[in-house]
Amino acid sequence: MPRSPRKSTSSTSLPSGGLRVTPLGGLGEVGRNMTVFEYEGKLLIVDCGVLFPEEHQPGIDVILPDFTSLQGRWDDVVGIVLTHGHEDHIGGVPYLLKERPDIPLIGSQLTLAFISAKLTEHKISPTTIHVEAEDKHQAGPFELEFVAVNHSIPDGLAVAIRTPAGLILHTGDFKMDQFPLDGRITDLRHFARLGEEGVDLFLTDSTNAEVPGFTISERDLTPAIDQVFATAPKRIIVSSFASHVHRIQQVLDSAHAAGRKVAFVGRSMVKNMGIARELEYLKIPRGLVVDFKKLQSMPDNKITLICTGSQGEPMAALSRMASGTHQIKLSADDTVLMASSLIPGNENAIYGIINKFTDLGVKVVHKGNAKVHVSGHASAGELVYCYNIVKPTHVMPVHGESKHLHANAELAVKTGVDPKRVLVVKDGTTVDLVNGQAKVSGQVEAGLVYVDGHTVGKVTEETLKERTLLQEGGAITIVALVDPDSNQLAEPLEFVTKGFIQDKQIFHAAAEKVKTALGKIAGQDIDDLDELEKLITDTVGRHLERNYRRSPLITTVVVDA
Ligand SMILES: [Zn+2]
Repeated sequence: MPRSPRKSTSSTSLPSGGLRVTPLGGLGEVGRNMTVFEYEGKLLIVDCGVLFPEEHQPGIDVILPDFTSLQGRWDDVVGIVLTHGHEDHIGGVPYLLKERPDIPLIGSQLTLAFISAKLTEHKISPTTIHVEAEDKHQAGPFELEFVAVNHSIPDGLAVAIRTPAGLILHTGDFKMDQFPLDGRITDLRHFARLGEEGVDLFLTDSTNAEVPGFTISERDLTPAIDQVFATAPKRIIVSSFASHVHRIQQVLDSAHAAGRKVAFVGRSMVKNMGIARELEYLKIPRGLVVDFKKLQSMPDNKITLICTGSQGEPMAALSRMASGTHQIKLSADDTVLMASSLIPGNENAIYGIINKFTDLGVKVVHKGNAKVHVSGHASAGELVYCYNIVKPTHVMPVHGESKHLHANAELAVKTGVDPKRVLVVKDGTTVDLVNGQAKVSGQVEAGLVYVDGHTVGKVTEETLKERTLLQEGGAITIVALVDPDSNQLAEPLEFVTKGFIQDKQIFHAAAEKVKTALGKIAGQDIDDLDELEKLITDTVGRHLERNYRRSPLITTVVVDA
């Protein structure tokens, strides 16, 4: 069968019998996890998630992995393994399936249920292959074997990938809670069996590699959550990710014990908890969860609301409650319980919400003042255990910013992995496993792909820079009527401003600078108006920066007189 042309930016060609690993997201950032495995012209993808924007990326909904290196190769893809149902592992799938909707999605029951519900919204009906821990599945030339892992969402899987090139083990996101709420622990015995067979390349979750010791058990949060329910005088509003089934189970149990009723608020929360309940990942005592409308007629001290927005997302229920634009109006003596992590980059938004609630007299319980959150990722102690059990030949840290990847690499080396065989790479770097040796082989495109409303990949770094300038400094449009022979102004410059102070004195001085600059090129042959526009923009920009410490977005329009 003819093969589609291999397209890669600068990677060397993959030797026959070799396996290539290309991370397209998640290495150098926390989010948009995606890794591509290539063997004998076929591709297997593990996860395809989104990254959430930070403050310097205004107007962006989510950020996707870069699919450029896969263009022209979609027919070679034999499947997408989804390790678990978090957005940073499945959120990019709808965009990927727009390229080829029938790529099989391989995952556990809850993961497939979450992604299928999401795809229905995008009007895509996926091809799914349901696997469980211990299952084997052949996807093209890749023999897959699934291992149970414990994480902050149920039904997580690590995946072992066998080809004649070697055995790879990818942990997905995981931790080693020894007393998990659902009793499903990370299967270290299975890790050990794979280790005995010989793991050539071990891809491990780096998120918490810098955190010493062991991640505490989810069960250890019960007293603090119970305390909130035992003492809150009025309504309790709990915010969490819409996928944190374990944490929500704990909240439901505490609410039930305290004799309260619960309603889920917000589309994604209602949808996901409906799925989790139907599949029995969420155990809800009869009569505990009621419709939001019914709950409103009950006394305040019987009410619990569970909503999204724990990361300060401006459109989510919690931040709209804080700013008073949500139908649920909070008041003094209500309690907000933020039962989830604080993703780096979201701090300002979250503290802003906490302050707004505090001003309303609402008590806010969060991970900063009570033990109401525990991470979903393995800390250094757990990672070291894994290295000692698996005894991999090569290690490639995944999932994390640079500092997390390096911390994880150090742990591998500490357990005796040869430092030359620990590959700390970033998104787009290709690693080839050939004759039992893993080496960096090149680089493919792996830029940030921005989703802005219905547009994908149209917003560029330049657009974001302009948006930030607009936000911070406003905008100035300069209209210059210029004599084409002399390059000198035929009329005084016109300044139109938005969000920048309209001060005659400032602009008079700026106009003088422009006159001087144009004086220096008087009579020169300039055929490109862009050049004149740039000269004027730069002159005014420098003047405002030097004298007023302001950097508005400046646009100049030159018109020949
Ligand atoms: Zn996760």
